[in-house]
Amino acid sequence: MDLFEHQAKELFAGFGVPVPSGRVATTPEEARGIAAELGGRVVVKAQVKVGGRGKAGGVKVADGPEAAQAVAGQILGMDIKGHTVHRVLVEQASDIAEEYYFSFLLDRAGRSYLAMCSREGGMEIEEVAATKPEALAKVAVDPAGIDEAGARRIAAQGGLPAAALDGAASLIAALWTAFDSSDATLVEVNPLILTGDGQVIALDGKVTLDDNARFRHDDWSQYEDVGAEDPLERAAKEKDLNYVRLDGEVGIIGNGAGLVMSTLDVVAYAGERYDGVKPANFLDIGGGASADVMAAGLEIVLSDPAVRSVFVNVFGGITACDAVANGIVSALGLLAERGEKVDRPLVVRLDGNNAEEGRRLLDSYSATAGPGAVRRVDTMDGAADLAAKLASKGA
Ligand code: ADP
Ligand code: MG
Repeated sequence: MDLFEHQAKELFAGFGVPVPSGRVATTPEEARGIAAELGGRVVVKAQVKVGGRGKAGGVKVADGPEAAQAVAGQILGMDIKGHTVHRVLVEQASDIAEEYYFSFLLDRAGRSYLAMCSREGGMEIEEVAATKPEALAKVAVDPAGIDEAGARRIAAQGGLPAAALDGAASLIAALWTAFDSSDATLVEVNPLILTGDGQVIALDGKVTLDDNARFRHDDWSQYEDVGAEDPLERAAKEKDLNYVRLDGEVGIIGNGAGLVMSTLDVVAYAGERYDGVKPANFLDIGGGASADVMAAGLEIVLSDPAVRSVFVNVFGGITACDAVANGIVSALGLLAERGEKVDRPLVVRLDGNNAEEGRRLLDSYSATAGPGAVRRVDTMDGAADLAAKLASKGA
């Protein structure tokens, strides 16, 4: 999970990393108020999770509250590399003497942590690495951590001048604590600046948190960017379903991530025969496949208007196929009761434990509900073929 700059800076500040004072605004009027509170010159900065905001016109200096309101008006609503600006950070303008680069990251290849430091800051670090590799120090960091002396050595290796070393050493040591205690895989400060009066400050901040560590950080819910999430994915998350929206036409429901992954492959392959239709989603309903979970899954998949057919692919293991078949039939009943129409063809393939009984249950349901209510196909390839065909334009 990536943080916005203002969130990164709040996190930094919590660990004693010096950052400019500032607050977030969603309207030009609010930006004006914050600028008045801060006093003096401010910088108004687009909050989007993409770099190069400065170059794109998303970072502007303002001399006072009026000017802050005006530039906030220009920046809010702007599109930066496909990201709409909904919020701006209004912060004190710093008197920049020099701009440097600093980051801590997880170096998977090196099986270690890495610090990167350079006196060449402000610009994209990829550019520094490509054009002046000697100006970028890469130093392996022991997981046991870093003290100020170690931090100072890294700053010196990055070529920072003597005047910046004390400030940089204490900032880098604090940044390590922020990186380590927050289970981050990246903290990047670009630029790290030396001010005219000799202070070292983090002027920009990028943080990537390790989602695998979410369970031990209750406070991470504050970082969830609800508005940016796909509404169907959010609805699925609320129902505890493992759903990922894709851009095809065949809705997919299966039990077990491995089976669902291979179902996506098989459907994509079959789709090549039917004007290139593709899977519309990944949805793993897990081992249970109860009626409730199946109904919730069908509901999510069918609320995607792009879906033209649904392929339910279940392998009965601990939960036997007859239980799954009952789950499907009850789910269809539940949806009908709620007045939600299953108005697109449903292809079901059941195999594994008690497959015969499961298939019989589906057939007897179709016999009463009408042919085509559930189309049973017993092989995965055959079912994928039919689901793709039913989703094609010709169907
Ligand atoms: P991005 O990396 O997305 O372009 P930055 O936060 O690095 O955004 O800002 C771009 C540039 O704007 C910085 O390199 C710096 O020169 C200037 N800048 C940013 N924040 C401030 C600030 N608070 N005071 C003065 N200049 C700033
Ligand atoms: Mg930057």
